[in-house]
Amino acid sequence: SDIGSQKERVVTEEEWLQKWEMGNIGFHKEQGHPLLQKYLDVLLNGRSGLRIFFPLCGKAVEMKWLADMGHSVVGVEVSEQAVKEFFSEHSLPYCEEPVPEISGAKLFQSTSGNISLYCCSIYDLSSSIVGKFDGVWDRGALVAVNPRDRQRYASLMISLVEKNSSCLLVTVSYDPNKHKGPPFYVPESEIKSLFG
Ligand code: SAH
Repeated sequence: SDIGSQKERVVTEEEWLQKWEMGNIGFHKEQGHPLLQKYLDVLLNGRSGLRIFFPLCGKAVEMKWLADMGHSVVGVEVSEQAVKEFFSEHSLPYCEEPVPEISGAKLFQSTSGNISLYCCSIYDLSSSIVGKFDGVWDRGALVAVNPRDRQRYASLMISLVEKNSSCLLVTVSYDPNKHKGPPFYVPESEIKSLFG
């Protein structure tokens, strides 16, 4: 009952594109997330050269951090503006190509090859297109997904990770009756039932 007021709420892709156009992107943090710094060892678990996935990536600066550490980063984002701003704000040259398996999708890849951002809906991806990942940084992703799509999102994420992967998930704790989201309120019990 505590998420009753948010359950039916939908933020459309069009609305997300508008947020980017209007510069209404309070979720973007120039400084990078302190929790990634804090739990980096859990994500990496002593491993190097990982493939790390950023669902609903926006222009998250953490993608640059992890790429600079020698990992290979893959993100997905509906807003082409966000993807282009990511590369230009970090002065990273990139190339752009269509994705044959997904109509209308584009792949933006850094010239150095270690950052690949798919511009399409996450629901268009599958492991046959993007492969599987060793790690996931989910900040502003599960909590941005419309509540009715959570099960679909979780199943997709599970299909995109290797067996011994590490996934970091950030949620936001607040009274869902006082704020309509996003970020949506995702109770811990639901995280357990989605991901086991
Ligand atoms: N993870 C990022 C952005 C969080 S905001 C960060 O930490 O800054 C959520 C982002 O998801 C927005 O940029 C929005 O444009 C994008 N988005 C929303 N629905 C999406 C979908 N179905 N597929 C891909 N991206 C989506």
